[in-house]
Amino acid sequence: MENVHVKIDGIEVEVPSNYTILQAAHEAGITIPTLCYLKDINAIAACRMCLVEATGVRNLAAACVQQVADGMEVKTNTPELRKSRKTTLELMLSNHRMECLSCVRSDDCELRRLAAEYGVDQNRYTGYEQLPKEEVVAVGSDGLEPRILRDNSKCILCRRCIAVCRYNQHVAVIGANDRGFETHVASAFDMPLTETPCVNCGQCVAVCPTGALRERDDTDKVWDALNDPSKHVVIAPAPSVRAQIGECFDYPIGTNVEGKLAAALRRLGFEKVFDVDTAADITIMEEGTELLERLKNNGPLPLLTSCSPGWIKFCEEYYPDMIPNISSCKSPQGMYGALMKTYYAEKNNIDPKDLFVVSVMPCTAKKFEITRDDMSAAGEGLPDIDVSLTTRELARMIKRAGIRFRDLKDEPFDPAFGVASGAGHIFGATGGVMEAALRTVAEIVTGESLKDPEFHDVRGLKDIKEAEYNLNGTVVRVAVTSGLANAKKLLDMVKSGERQYHFIEVMACPGGCVNGGGQPHQSGDVRNFTDLRAERAKALYSEDAGMELRKSHENPVVKEIYDTYLEKPGSHKAHKILHTSYVPRKVY
Ligand code: SF4
Ligand code: SF4
Ligand code: SF4
Repeated sequence: MENVHVKIDGIEVEVPSNYTILQAAHEAGITIPTLCYLKDINAIAACRMCLVEATGVRNLAAACVQQVADGMEVKTNTPELRKSRKTTLELMLSNHRMECLSCVRSDDCELRRLAAEYGVDQNRYTGYEQLPKEEVVAVGSDGLEPRILRDNSKCILCRRCIAVCRYNQHVAVIGANDRGFETHVASAFDMPLTETPCVNCGQCVAVCPTGALRERDDTDKVWDALNDPSKHVVIAPAPSVRAQIGECFDYPIGTNVEGKLAAALRRLGFEKVFDVDTAADITIMEEGTELLERLKNNGPLPLLTSCSPGWIKFCEEYYPDMIPNISSCKSPQGMYGALMKTYYAEKNNIDPKDLFVVSVMPCTAKKFEITRDDMSAAGEGLPDIDVSLTTRELARMIKRAGIRFRDLKDEPFDPAFGVASGAGHIFGATGGVMEAALRTVAEIVTGESLKDPEFHDVRGLKDIKEAEYNLNGTVVRVAVTSGLANAKKLLDMVKSGERQYHFIEVMACPGGCVNGGGQPHQSGDVRNFTDLRAERAKALYSEDAGMELRKSHENPVVKEIYDTYLEKPGSHKAHKILHTSYVPRKVY
């Protein structure tokens, strides 16, 4: 690719000739505002915020789609451009339900920030009717509360949600309905999302620049439990939460704040502060055993991982014939909840009815997962997990409680269910589950201790990663993917016989849980020029690298739970408590 020379606001830069003006401006240290652009999937020049003056271009150019040319001179910040952007914002706000004081996105709304930057302090264009505020459906037709809520009166029709659902996730259950002032984002025939094959991944929520999309807020249920003296309330965060929640407290992306997180949870009033990473280690014991059994009994193979509920629903919706391939293991969240309501309750003489179990997840689909069948190991009507919060919801609780997160001293998790190996920590990144499983399976098969526990072939952000390992004559072929469009590609190759594997890891969200739909919001400006997935994953890999305990089967807490309660991995009791089943769903 040849390079060209471009001058942006008087600053000369040399960039590849296929760059857009937006990219070239970034190289020059200049941020051009955008509200709709999302790298690779939504370059539609719809919001008109990125208009610039460029030589050789008639009228104003949309910087997100206009390619640079050699010798081009660009102006991004003239009085006319500032006026044009201000007018654009005023038009966007003309039918916007302004609830900034209490809006869930008040702190990180991209629209509100730009309105402030451009001094949009009055509404010049009034009179247009606001779209109705979407009714919060208390119970969907599946008998469950909705997981994702949409308020079209705060939607700016940027279409980021539509693009991410279609191109990254290959689900495509939302689009733009009607035309003109009536245009609104919705499912076909305006059906509630709960009645579509939406997989609850929350990727649409993650990229929405405003408060038009959000997850169901379950924080009041947790406050109520914390204020109920008859309840013993425990909580545990998922592997990736410690590497992301810091972003809500102005830490740089990829800062691991595990110690402060444990301290904050204790200050919120939880009786015990545990770690889902311990359950991730138990998942490896169960899933590794399942893989070895399937290898011995010739299938069904490939074994497909089951940690990601968005992926599970996708498989149930679109590949029901592959359900027998999915591991029967509950996810780490599911195993944590099931062991709390059985093992922990029994050991501590707590009636499971009085035990309130909270998880903190990177994921909106986890809210759906806790309502699935089989998620009540202590008996019907006693869910394993009472509330699954997203990272964002927990950050809001910490702020509301007035806890000065940054001033907290590091504290450990409670040891009864708070010790985890490095293998448990890396679950949060794509390839992490596979690597954790390989560490254990390799040692069981070979009977030898691994000299180096790192499996670099399955790390990183390639769409599909493949590797083959010869474990003392047992050949194991593996593949790893994330993002459901990539999962579709991989499953189609498996089904056509083009590729054969023994074990496949799939995560619904591109990059894995570090980029989950419940993680802290990052603006388009950040998403488009920083690889969030890589930066966030680094925190988990560096924590693992610095640990002595790096293999799930060496975790002393895991050993104790098997010795004193579950007997052995894959035992009848372990199956009853830690395993589940799946159902084919209707594809519309
Ligand atoms: S979406 Fe943004 S601009 Fe609209 S009410 Fe919420 S914070 Fe305010
Ligand atoms: S939650 Fe996921 S599947 Fe559902 S609409 Fe949003 S992006 Fe699409
Ligand atoms: S719901 Fe959010 S992401 Fe989707 S079009 Fe509206 S503002 Fe954009």
